[in-house]
Amino acid sequence: MRKPLIAGNWKMNLLNSKVPAYFTALNEVIKAVDRQKVDTLLAVPAPFLATARESAQAAGVWIATQTIHEKHEGAFTGEISIPMLKDLGINWTLIGHSERRQYFNETDATVAAKTKATLEAGIQAIVCVGETQAEREKGQMEGVLRRQMEAVLAVCTKDSNFTIAYEPVWAIGTGLTATDAQAEEAHAFIRSIVREKLGSLADRLRILYGGSVKSSNIQGLLAQPNVDGALIGGASLDPQEFGKTVSLAASR
Ligand code: PEP
Repeated sequence: MRKPLIAGNWKMNLLNSKVPAYFTALNEVIKAVDRQKVDTLLAVPAPFLATARESAQAAGVWIATQTIHEKHEGAFTGEISIPMLKDLGINWTLIGHSERRQYFNETDATVAAKTKATLEAGIQAIVCVGETQAEREKGQMEGVLRRQMEAVLAVCTKDSNFTIAYEPVWAIGTGLTATDAQAEEAHAFIRSIVREKLGSLADRLRILYGGSVKSSNIQGLLAQPNVDGALIGGASLDPQEFGKTVSLAASR
């Protein structure tokens, strides 16, 4: 069985000055959780990375950035490079979150370039894929997922280490969650594409579900054979709620 990963994404929320108190509160909730049973990560805004890394140590939570640039340095105002992450001791990043695709023009090609850069540098990426409501209604879910996955898999080998997050865009921040069966259907489809392209990588690849996940729905999602964890936006802002979700994931 793949070990579940419960990942939070603070997006552009909270304040650096509140970060230590967040982790103190989270640690209170998850200190008794068996870490052999669940991995935990938080993707925080770039200005909080150093504080979060320091504060997260006691709670045993990995810290990630929410995006990276594929180039190591240069004239790319506002961007964050992989060497900058490594210098801070950060080894994880999100790539291609739907908000990056929607508001910052990230395409399948840029997502692939970023994934390739992380694989080459030994940084762990959570690469996000997922269809919009309009695409689902037009029956294009499988086509969109295949296109997004093939772009990513083209830069991978069967030995690559990364994570996929399936996040149907219609379920992000809307309160709408895919049913357990809808999530399982999409995850099984994604895994089948990985198997078709890269064989046994499909057996160890963690595929997280994202879209209004919280403590009240995590257990049903994790009961699905192809759901290996969650990427959680809104509900990760509250350390008690996020900690409860982590605890429930460990007891599945
Ligand atoms: C996300 O930010 O990736 C996400 C899934 O958000 P939410 O949990 O708020 O839907």
